[in-house]
Amino acid sequence: MPEEPCQCPDCQRFYREHDRLIRENASLRQQQELNWAALQSFRTLAGRVLEELQKQHGDADAPAGESGKGPAGAPAAKGAAAAAVPESPELEAIQQAMADLENINAHLFSIEVLMERIFDVRVPEEVEQKFREVAGELAPDPLNADRLRLNRLLHQTPDLPDRG
Ligand SMILES: [Zn+2]
Repeated sequence: MPEEPCQCPDCQRFYREHDRLIRENASLRQQQELNWAALQSFRTLAGRVLEELQKQHGDADAPAGESGKGPAGAPAAKGAAAAAVPESPELEAIQQAMADLENINAHLFSIEVLMERIFDVRVPEEVEQKFREVAGELAPDPLNADRLRLNRLLHQTPDLPDRG
């Protein structure tokens, strides 16, 4: 027997988002563009944050630095090299995050290489039409008039513009 899908708030949010992405990107072409844009925006943002952190805290991969290993209290070591030595749990957490972001960026790059092959595909309009058809069955419009009316009855939502 089929298992009931989880209905916790996180899962419900996921189902809604999942269906919205099908509904609003109902052709193969649109799914390709959507996913390419999502991947690129993820890479751009994560890459820039990593750059900023590296500017601020030094490269996570860099060795602690010769000068950073000087005798404790030596004030001459202040600067980039000294900053690379974990001094606090906070700094250690930042450096762990930088290493994690580097991994994420490497994975995103690998995914991009695989995705390029998916994105080379073009299908005839007939097949695109099949995509739209199936999308309509999988994720019907929650904002169509009937659905809205029903929601209003169920929830008595006061946020519709017919109050003023
Ligand atoms: Zn859940």
